[in-house]
Amino acid sequence: MPPRKRTDSTWVIVAWSLNVAGILGIVLVALAYWALNPVQAAQSPNIFQAQNAIVTATYPATSAAPVGIYYLPTITPNPLSTMIVVQTPTQFVLTSNHRATIIGYSVSGRPIEVYTFGQGERKKMIVAGIHGGYEWNTIALADELITYIDEHPEVIPTDVTLYILRNLNPDGDARDHGIDGRVNDHGVDLNRNFPTNWASNWDRDGCWNYGPTTGGTGPGSEPETRALMNFLQTHKIETLISYHSAALGVFPGGEPWEKNSIRFAEALAKVTKYPFPPIDTGCIFTGTLADYAVETGAVSVDMELATHKYTDFSKNLKALQVLLTWEK
Ligand SMILES: [Zn+2]
Repeated sequence: MPPRKRTDSTWVIVAWSLNVAGILGIVLVALAYWALNPVQAAQSPNIFQAQNAIVTATYPATSAAPVGIYYLPTITPNPLSTMIVVQTPTQFVLTSNHRATIIGYSVSGRPIEVYTFGQGERKKMIVAGIHGGYEWNTIALADELITYIDEHPEVIPTDVTLYILRNLNPDGDARDHGIDGRVNDHGVDLNRNFPTNWASNWDRDGCWNYGPTTGGTGPGSEPETRALMNFLQTHKIETLISYHSAALGVFPGGEPWEKNSIRFAEALAKVTKYPFPPIDTGCIFTGTLADYAVETGAVSVDMELATHKYTDFSKNLKALQVLLTWEK
């Protein structure tokens, strides 16, 4: 037993030595901490200054969250239970001082803008975006033409005024660049809402039928339609192109086709290579802008770009020449 007792006392000595060494270590760390941070209290004014600096700092208007870092989940509003937040009226702004005239507002309050070029007696008009985001490339084309003419004002003959309505259906354009973007915020096909041969419903055989759509509750029931009707009634438009997409060709206005509009369609088809006569799908068109424009005395066509994707700019620059120089 004595040897074992000796072993025990050896372990007790080792344990106490470790304790003492540990306590000494703590004391040394405390001393070192105190020695290296002698002006602890002096930090207070520094903190105060730092806070002041943050409070009074101004950030540049362009400051943005770091790219690729998102801290918050997105909130998807229910369109049936929340108000529609009207987005920035338009991302399209010319670098010159040339501004659009607002001729009305969409169902959800987006402005309908017309750009005016020239001051001549003979009034010509281009309308784009009647089918909203489904035919967004017509709006892109209108913007390209507006930009081009703004930079080359000499293309407008002195006896001509050209109006470009860049987007008749801004709500549809804001909703979707696809099938869901075709109608306005009342679910109305605006190119079925004009008073000429108006119908609320139609035989869908051969017609666009990828989603629910109506001609409206009555002729010209929609604010977008009425804004353009008022404009046409007060501006005596001579010649009008209503842009669509895609691929079917150039449709003269009038029911049956008005003869000057047929000649105009042929001339446009010749420079653009868009089909004329247009491709007949068997669809009966009611309440169209082109038919209504003929009724107001204009020579008028529906003209379809070749795809839903491209603006066919160079082709439509030639079409612009035909429009600007067209004599009745
Ligand atoms: Zn269309």
